Amino acid sequence: MGYQILHKSSWDRVDWGMSVLDSLEFDNRFTAELPADPHPSNVPHQAPGALFTRVEPTPTAAPEIIAVSDEVAELLGLSAEQVASDEFRDAMTGNLVLPGMDSFAMRYGGHQFGNWAGQLGDGRAINLGELVTPDGQRQMLQLKGAGRTSYSRTADGLAVLRSSIREFLCSEAMFHLGVPTTRALSLSLTGDQVMRDMLYDGHPALEPGAVVCRVAPNFIRFGSFELPASMGEIDELRALANFTIREYFPELWPDDGEPTPDTYVAFYNEVVKRTAEMIVHWQRVGFVHGVMNTDNLSILGLTIDYGPYGWLEDYDPNWTPNTTDKHGKRYRFGNQPGIGQWNLAQLGNALYPLVEDTDALQAAIDGYVDHFRNGHQDMMADKLGFAAWDTDRDESLMVELFELLQAAETDMTLFYRGLADVSTDEGVSAADRFAPLLDAFYVPDEQLTEDLQVRWNDWLDAYAARVRTDGTSNNDRRTAMNSVNPLYVMRNYLAQLAIDKSEAGDHSEVIELLDVMRNPYTEQPGRERFAEKRPDWARTRVGCSMLSCSS
Ligand code: AMP
Ligand code: MG
Repeated sequence: MGYQILHKSSWDRVDWGMSVLDSLEFDNRFTAELPADPHPSNVPHQAPGALFTRVEPTPTAAPEIIAVSDEVAELLGLSAEQVASDEFRDAMTGNLVLPGMDSFAMRYGGHQFGNWAGQLGDGRAINLGELVTPDGQRQMLQLKGAGRTSYSRTADGLAVLRSSIREFLCSEAMFHLGVPTTRALSLSLTGDQVMRDMLYDGHPALEPGAVVCRVAPNFIRFGSFELPASMGEIDELRALANFTIREYFPELWPDDGEPTPDTYVAFYNEVVKRTAEMIVHWQRVGFVHGVMNTDNLSILGLTIDYGPYGWLEDYDPNWTPNTTDKHGKRYRFGNQPGIGQWNLAQLGNALYPLVEDTDALQAAIDGYVDHFRNGHQDMMADKLGFAAWDTDRDESLMVELFELLQAAETDMTLFYRGLADVSTDEGVSAADRFAPLLDAFYVPDEQLTEDLQVRWNDWLDAYAARVRTDGTSNNDRRTAMNSVNPLYVMRNYLAQLAIDKSEAGDHSEVIELLDVMRNPYTEQPGRERFAEKRPDWARTRVGCSMLSCSS
């Protein structure tokens, strides 16, 4: 089979029928089974009754791959030879559509910052096709930034290098941290320039265009269900729910025929549980999503759509990296668990026409609180090195800890790594007990007042006594804690340093960061600089402490 040529230069290169990518097999069930927009075009339009619109990526001027995730390539069964090929470069940048692909933009709606926004859809994401992997699974390949779709509204469908680096690196970092997430196969430059007003302050400038190839079983969002429900498109809603359950939650599909209202409730329950688990992970590693609109929440419970996200450096539950949200701070770190529940309630409303039983849906959403609390307690027990959570003893310790962490600027990541080194033996002096934590404080001279030092000493005494009741040795506790408390996270300033270099043509720091983040729990000699707390210059720099949606 031949290629569909989108880019003139590919024409010269393609060896018809002999391509190294010929062996790739696609099984496009989403487009095969769900209703398509009868008007496939990338001109903006409403698409009632459709769940997707077929659309092709836009060719680019001079595609160039900057980085590839070896782990994702392996997951997909791509060989080194394939990844190194010109065809791969062209396919990953929208310049070549491979045989078997069936590219499309998904139609969905969403609640943005608490308000219903109507039809949104993939405005700058184009799903290429569902690749069959060596283990017989299917993974959707999706290009972000490969041109306009019918859902682009007034925007250009493109992405710039800085935001693409951030998405590429963070999705892989999250995976290695053990957080459920979509993946990233490749990061490429398009060779085109893209106009962006980064701070929305009337200073537009040209920036290098880029494309990330994202990978996940699917990119179905809460908003994918909300839109047909809001339009009264109940057949389409049912088709999407049935498809999602049959393909991705097969254990819930009834043995003896079609789904019943109970099946949809069980499905909803499962999404409630997965979403709670995902957010527990975010709170564990200090990740702030930044734009938890319902169109950015995956039905699979994966972290999706890395935009103006950020990592907590000094522990501040009121922090959000997103400048668009700086007044209401709806999506601040400490609000993520509650927003997860709010978003799930919107999903429950969307599923109502299939269930028609408010009590059953209410019971499911009420379960969120328990799922989250239990998950959070287990997670905190792990972070603190306890054998198991004991609410009577541990709740007050946790509350005081969260207050102390905010009382003086304390680096969350370094704090938990330091705590693993604290001796819990009896008779250790207060100063010795505290010493491993000193490095976590940003301004100890000014902020670590005598009163605060006394509170820390008391807390550490209580903590040590609590650990001793478990009988865990200092060594065992350190090993256990260091397996859940990362040393290396995608600190905002680290990503920015990599971006600065890349924009100047040197992509080595992106590669290096990708490699550091492969082993976030293990000390890597020679790479100490990646574990350092935010330097002073990064405190207020754009890209380090604040980000806009203009990506
Ligand atoms: P986000 O907040 O990035 O999840 O985007 C919200 C909506 O805006 C989605 O429908 C996106 O597809 C769309 N969107 C964001 N940026 C662009 C862009 N540059 N071109 C077209 N659509 C976009
Ligand atoms: Mg989005």
